[in-house]
Amino acid sequence: MSIITDHLKEVKERINQAAQKAERDPSGILLLAVSKTQPVEAILEAAAAGQNAFGENYEQEAVAKIRSIRTNHPDLKLEWHFIGPIQSNKTRAIAEYFDWVHSVDRERIAKRLSDQRPADLPPLNICLQINISGETSKSGISPENLPGLAKAVSVMPRLKLRGLMAIPEPETDPDKQRKPFRAMKALFRQLQEAGFELDTLSMGMSGDMNTAIDEGATTVRIGTAIFGPRNYPVQQ
Ligand SMILES: *Cc1c(COP(=O)(O)O)cnc(C)c1O
Repeated sequence: MSIITDHLKEVKERINQAAQKAERDPSGILLLAVSKTQPVEAILEAAAAGQNAFGENYEQEAVAKIRSIRTNHPDLKLEWHFIGPIQSNKTRAIAEYFDWVHSVDRERIAKRLSDQRPADLPPLNICLQINISGETSKSGISPENLPGLAKAVSVMPRLKLRGLMAIPEPETDPDKQRKPFRAMKALFRQLQEAGFELDTLSMGMSGDMNTAIDEGATTVRIGTAIFGPRNYPVQQ
């Protein structure tokens, strides 16, 4: 068995165990394989092992890989999630090539994505990125400003608001690690109670997926635990 196939199996086992511990149905947790900096071959290997949702952070790198896979493996139906910071000059390609965007934190970027989503594709699935750990992170909208952004995005014609995403600061103390995930779940519930039909809580990475699942994650974004260390620094 190849190492990626092996790792995928281990990660799924971890998801199952964490779900069981939290008394949740593991089928309600999507495993997103984060393939940034990994070559097409690694993605194909994961796809051959049954993985079909992939996360990418860098538009140019991602589009090159997606195009290559679509050209050389036209029968392979993979789902692409954009999870990196978004500059406005990248929105067109993101709207054209991706099925999901997890990292929307500004109305202006959302509007560009909606305007640029090709008419022959279904609406682009959107998660709003929350700055849940405070000062240190530059990405993500503050919880105070979330309701306004959710309202604006929910009426954009070519977007479908699906949920929330966060990248909490890594913590060594398990109690401290739990706090931001719990806060995310509370925000998620508040929006649902306000009438937004959300089904996606995107949180948890290789190092903190168990806690994220325990606190209600419905999508975990896993890179190194599947593909190993990242290959090269991407400049863009
Ligand atoms: C790189 C990245 C991941 C994956 O992180 P790992 O620690 O390698 O699992 C998840 N989410 C985002 C937003 C990332 O940029």
